[in-house]
Amino acid sequence: MKEKPIASERIIQGNKLECAVCKNDTFWERQTLMNTPGMTFLGLEWANKKAQNYICDHCGYVHWFLNK
Ligand SMILES: [Zn+2]
Repeated sequence: MKEKPIASERIIQGNKLECAVCKNDTFWERQTLMNTPGMTFLGLEWANKKAQNYICDHCGYVHWFLNK
């Protein structure tokens, strides 16, 4: 299992992530699986991906990034 996540600054493709809501710059990290039976049935394989979530340490807003 992963260690306890730490809120810290995150760099996304060379750009420092900043909260879209409160402009905070420290985030918790977690991964979420996007796949659901319904999406597979509909042929939306692109949705069967892991999403990287960065959760604002200040306001809790979740920023989603789909891994390619
Ligand atoms: Zn925020």
